[in-house]
Amino acid sequence: MHSELNPWSSNQTVDVDRLFAEFGIEPIGEAAERLPEVPSFMRRGIVVGHRDYNLVADAIKNRTPFHVLTGFMPSGLPHLGHLMVMKEVVWHVRQGGNGYIAIADREAHAVRGISWEKCREYGKEYLKALYALGFEGTAYYQSKNERLKDLAFEAATKVNFSELAAIYGFGPDTSLSHAMSVVTQVADILFPQLDAGPAPTIVPVGLDQDPHIRLTRDVAYKLRLFTVEDRGDHISVRSKNASEAAIEAVHRAFPGSKKYAGHVDVTGLPQEQVEDAVRKIEIAHGGFGFYLPSSTYHIFMPGLQGGKMSSSVPESLFGFYEPDKSVRKKVMGAMTGGRMTLEEQQRLGGEPDACSVYLLNLFHMLEDDVELADLRRRCESGELTCGQCKKETYERVQAFLVELRDKMDSVEHLAEEV
Ligand code: SF4
Repeated sequence: MHSELNPWSSNQTVDVDRLFAEFGIEPIGEAAERLPEVPSFMRRGIVVGHRDYNLVADAIKNRTPFHVLTGFMPSGLPHLGHLMVMKEVVWHVRQGGNGYIAIADREAHAVRGISWEKCREYGKEYLKALYALGFEGTAYYQSKNERLKDLAFEAATKVNFSELAAIYGFGPDTSLSHAMSVVTQVADILFPQLDAGPAPTIVPVGLDQDPHIRLTRDVAYKLRLFTVEDRGDHISVRSKNASEAAIEAVHRAFPGSKKYAGHVDVTGLPQEQVEDAVRKIEIAHGGFGFYLPSSTYHIFMPGLQGGKMSSSVPESLFGFYEPDKSVRKKVMGAMTGGRMTLEEQQRLGGEPDACSVYLLNLFHMLEDDVELADLRRRCESGELTCGQCKKETYERVQAFLVELRDKMDSVEHLAEEV
């Protein structure tokens, strides 16, 4: 494996600071401050980094169009580990984003060998959970979206095998369908801009998904016909792949501009206005006018047993339809940050940051910051025993699941229609 971040790897332990430095991911702080309201997943340090999120934060603030997209690989039933991304997407839809959900059945089939029938069955469960959580917008299965497939083909013209080898460690034994599922995923991320017009697009992902984001940004850039460059004393629209007719159209669109070989000088005009007009000209001349997609990166909730949360470790998580008894057993048996004896616990207090029960509350079960702070205080002061804490947490989990299942049942028809 060449890349540090492999989306298909089972080891998701990453050193956040080093990755930021190495791959140019920005810490989320400053960008989050541009938002009219900072969501709990940013306030609580769950979403830690971003690429170009300022574009999206400004669109939220200024109520201008933006898209939000994510994809789910239907290789099993949705569970606790999928909840963070679902909530991030729904939050952005509520802030005015055009929502898109890709069910990555081509990827599940190519990479995990899941049958098409099972892909459909699992995909429906993801969609039910999303609609139940409040998702509105467009959802599709990769295998049924013809325009997506055309876009994937176009994207594939900008990707070669040495890049796939460098990013994903693809080798001679990698199947061609795996490579095709990669470009399909690139197309998923760009699809909202093809469907509803160029606009900033946020893709909330885990840190392990950054290779897809980097590749997609690279492809989006390569597919542009022009770049708009602010060179200090002048603004220039430079042709990358544009025809002479497209260059002439840019020249005509800006009275007073000067046309040179391969570029048009538009000095004196606001850059944003130039960008918008150039995107429209690109589309009229067979291009896409894509914005490079933006991304946010969240850390992963550890499994209920400590270690990694993964469907291959059933005790590490619970499914949305898992029987109460089994969920209860997992929560009551979860790894805590408690001390060896009750006496020690009362004297020293617990260690919430090392406790999967605390993190379950921080990630999902306690929306109210005051209540979360109170849990932390009771834990650290030794006032709360782990047994009591787990019992209270399980009650929250159960109430959450009862409500979620009810809603999932009531939106089944929406998931069927996709
Ligand atoms: Fe974890 Fe609760 Fe025990 Fe504190 S009291 S260590 S939060 S289980």
